[in-house]
Amino acid sequence: MPAAADKPDPGRRALLRGSWHRPAPALRPPWTDNETLIDRCSRCDACLDACPQDILVRGDGGFPTIDFMRGQGECTFCGACADVCPEPVFNRRQEPPWNLTLTVNKDNCLPHAGIHCEACRDACEQSAIAFRPRLGGPAQPDIDQEKCNGCGACLSLCPANAISARAPMEETA
Ligand code: SF4
Ligand code: SF4
Ligand code: SF4
Repeated sequence: MPAAADKPDPGRRALLRGSWHRPAPALRPPWTDNETLIDRCSRCDACLDACPQDILVRGDGGFPTIDFMRGQGECTFCGACADVCPEPVFNRRQEPPWNLTLTVNKDNCLPHAGIHCEACRDACEQSAIAFRPRLGGPAQPDIDQEKCNGCGACLSLCPANAISARAPMEETA
């Protein structure tokens, strides 16, 4: 009878049975990319436990994924996730830390329905959200992708759930 330490873990057993599927691209922690993370992450959860903002969750396959609707709702780029990771997953020399695209869904955005709201601009420390004045209605938001660092603050504070974040690889997936 094999010792407990010799038994493959559930993920490895699934891999050996051929039932493992490669998780789709998702919002990953800063200083990572989807491919490197899937290849090297041991799914130990250390980064989840270390995030003071509580925005990291176990995503598809148990791999760490960002959820801006949790905890403090934004990444402060504190580096705690990278510091605690025991695997070669994070590249702290990667600048910027990630390339998320934040977009406003006009169908949900309140000013597009004639209701005044500038909560996203107030949340943005990068001053990346400008409001375009228009005749006959409240000004509408426009995110400057050059200024935006993808922190997620606007997304989590939008009262209409009108802002979404997308990782680069999600666009072609
Ligand atoms: S950099 Fe800090 S706030 Fe951002 S995901 Fe990592 S631990 Fe959380
Ligand atoms: S700390 Fe590293 S190895 Fe552990 S779950 Fe997070 S990314 Fe994966
Ligand atoms: S995600 Fe971008 S636009 Fe939104 S608050 Fe952060 S820097 Fe500003």
